[in-house]
Amino acid sequence: MSDLRVRFAPSPTGYLHVGGARTALFNWLLARHRGGTFILRIEDTDVERSTQESVDAILEGMKWLGLDWDEGPFFQSEYFPLYKEYVQKLVAAGKAYKCYCTAEELDTKRNLAMAEGRKPKYDGTCRDGAVQPENQPYVIRFRAPQGGATSFDDLIKGTITFPNDELDDLIIQRSDGTPTYNFCVVIDDATMQITTVIRGDDHVNNTPRQVQLYEALDFPVPQFAHVPMILGADKARLSKRHGATSVIAYRDMGYLPEALLNYLVRLGWSNGDDEIFSIEEMIDKFDISNVGRSASVFNTEKLNWLNAHYIKNSDPQRLAALLLPHLTTRGVSTLDGPDLAAVVKTLQERAQTLEEMAERALFYYRAPSGYDEAALAKFDKELLLAVFAAVIEKLSASSAADVAAVDALFKEICSENSWKMGQVGQPVRIALSGGTHAPGIGEIVVTLGGEETVRRIRAAREFVAGK
Ligand code: GLU
Repeated sequence: MSDLRVRFAPSPTGYLHVGGARTALFNWLLARHRGGTFILRIEDTDVERSTQESVDAILEGMKWLGLDWDEGPFFQSEYFPLYKEYVQKLVAAGKAYKCYCTAEELDTKRNLAMAEGRKPKYDGTCRDGAVQPENQPYVIRFRAPQGGATSFDDLIKGTITFPNDELDDLIIQRSDGTPTYNFCVVIDDATMQITTVIRGDDHVNNTPRQVQLYEALDFPVPQFAHVPMILGADKARLSKRHGATSVIAYRDMGYLPEALLNYLVRLGWSNGDDEIFSIEEMIDKFDISNVGRSASVFNTEKLNWLNAHYIKNSDPQRLAALLLPHLTTRGVSTLDGPDLAAVVKTLQERAQTLEEMAERALFYYRAPSGYDEAALAKFDKELLLAVFAAVIEKLSASSAADVAAVDALFKEICSENSWKMGQVGQPVRIALSGGTHAPGIGEIVVTLGGEETVRRIRAAREFVAGK
């Protein structure tokens, strides 16, 4: 085990967003690559906006992706006494102070500053020892260093420096006694001995305040790595407007977890020109030094391409288990139909998602309720009837046990009647599936079984004869 300790710290105010999942993935990969520890911390200090439902959704997303954590989940809401203790430590050391300024006073001062073209900033009334009223509500502010600058060396962005005069005396405890967000993050990261903080670059602006707090509390400052945002095609930050952003929505649309992980790892990280990485390869090759500085654009086509790759190369039994819920939601029972893994085998070469595969699997379990008449109309009625009769006759006399045997049988039918394969194959495909987009005839016949095949061709023959 190395000393590396990283964490994923989502706020439970929604679902697991793909951007959050990528942050979790980068943390997890670094921990697994270096033999470190990956911690899950739920940042639920915002009691109003945090929900149990959201915690459950985040855990569900993490589990589906296989991002297992070594410690946690820890919930910040359970650590209020710890945060209070550290607030008191700062007050006792003179590094934090009670501030009695009321919301109205602060508003007036803010408005005045803005009217005079100054940056609105706490003016330090209580910092400088103004007379303090008794029995009045107060907040506790951090006595931030004045003059000079605060910098940190970001592992992705390089050195980032903020002039201290731009940083306010941060409120670390509200008037109701609850600690504030930036303060809790520091106490947690310090007490959990986090060595490397990997998070979205929307937190860059919080970092200098956090660095000042580490220093005031004599905690070692961790390393920071701020990952650029994920953007939509219009270069705005990825949001619902661009389509699905929830990890679970991707599961429900029929993506495989390894495809989504492979897609997400490449949003920001690269290893030469390689695109396809198994999870083992990601762990082997990932390091923060190969995470780029620029934002990446979410590209569904590429995700689809990766998903198709993983579907094609997955074990049919596993895919069958993953496909089943997509059929169940379509009201299909697979119990009295062909074996689902056998169905998967005929479809996995061409499906981009499990949803698409489910749509294409339907005909195996439901005889056509109608036919693509435009496609049928391309053939002479006499020819159709003759083809169906020949196929029924041949198939009834054969076991149709494997694809090669069925293909041979169809070849025989063609040569005996001087038909071309297209004249036989397409009508039979329509008879069996209702349409023309279906796997090869041999595969369908073997998967459906000879009996069901003959039953469906008879039904199609009746339909055509009645026209
Ligand atoms: N809770 C923060 C968020 O969900 C993450 C804070 C951090 O990683 O330091 O954006």
